[in-house]
Amino acid sequence: MSAQERPQRPQRPQIVLEVIERIRLTPHLVRIVAGGPGIAGVEDNGFADAYTKMLFAPAEAGITPPYDMEQLRQQLPIDMLPTRRTYTIRRFDLEAGQVWIDFVTHGDEGVAGPWAANAEPGDPVVLGGIGGGYAPDAAADWHLLVGDESAIPAISSALEAMPSDATGFALLEVQNESEQLELTAPAGIEVRWLHRGERAAGTTDLLVDAVRGLEWSGGRVQVFAHGERGAMKRLRPHLTDDRGLDRTQLSLSAYWALGRREDAFQAEKREAIGQI
Ligand SMILES: Cc1cc2nc3c(=O)[nH]c(=O)nc-3n(C[C@H](O)[C@H](O)[C@H](O)COP(=O)(O)OP(=O)(O)OC[C@H]3O[C@@H](n4cnc5c(N)ncnc54)[C@H](O)[C@@H]3O)c2cc1C
Repeated sequence: MSAQERPQRPQRPQIVLEVIERIRLTPHLVRIVAGGPGIAGVEDNGFADAYTKMLFAPAEAGITPPYDMEQLRQQLPIDMLPTRRTYTIRRFDLEAGQVWIDFVTHGDEGVAGPWAANAEPGDPVVLGGIGGGYAPDAAADWHLLVGDESAIPAISSALEAMPSDATGFALLEVQNESEQLELTAPAGIEVRWLHRGERAAGTTDLLVDAVRGLEWSGGRVQVFAHGERGAMKRLRPHLTDDRGLDRTQLSLSAYWALGRREDAFQAEKREAIGQI
């Protein structure tokens, strides 16, 4: 079935928040603290990889959220419509009336990255419902967390959610030391930062090679691996075929695709050719 023939999924109600604060965490990672009256509609679903489909409208469209997408599709040219992008909820601090979302700022290309780099207090933050699928399994013998900058928010939350006696590895690819964060992790989880230096994000085998080179301890491992599509595509057969992991041990997917906008690559993911 093609994407056009597929029936539209029912729209989840939008949660409209506003930017409270923008915090520059590293040269390429910016935190948006969002809150406001709409926070009453946010529920912490308990997943470490809790994520939301955000909507970003071009300022020139002059529209205010919540967006009636069906109506807007009939009224506006396609380039004026809100664009959907997926982001992890790094933290639910509902007592303080806030959620945190950490954005990779990857240059002038795209919608969400440039928006976050320039967001100002009061700007609308539109969330299209909250999903998720992974939480550290206390019954796992050890954990393997693998990701580039886009997965650092989810991996940070996962490390914080683990019992203090959890063991394993977190392998994180970033550009250089200035992109490393202070992570709160159990003492038994070894955090390894892998530097790609001048090479562009999404063009290296650092993560795959690091996993291949791991001394694989015994027992049942739980894996959380997310990042650029090519790296994840190369990693999956190693974990399933060489290491013999089954689906229940594995959370692995592409969070972004080199050279492709999210809407384009998410559409491909739904076709057989784009699946990894
Ligand atoms: C479940 C899930 C959770 C995610 N959580 C986060 C998160 O917490 N933080 C986060 O930053 N991202 C996260 N992502 C990834 C994010 O959705 C994509 O990076 C998205 O493409 C960014 O949108 P954009 O508008 O900035 O760029 P797009 O318009 O989608 O792409 C424009 C160009 O930028 C490139 N690009 C996109 N992302 C990156 C990147 N990270 N590094 C370098 N180049 C890039 C693309 O290849 C393309 O060439 C998540 C994705 C998923 C599926």
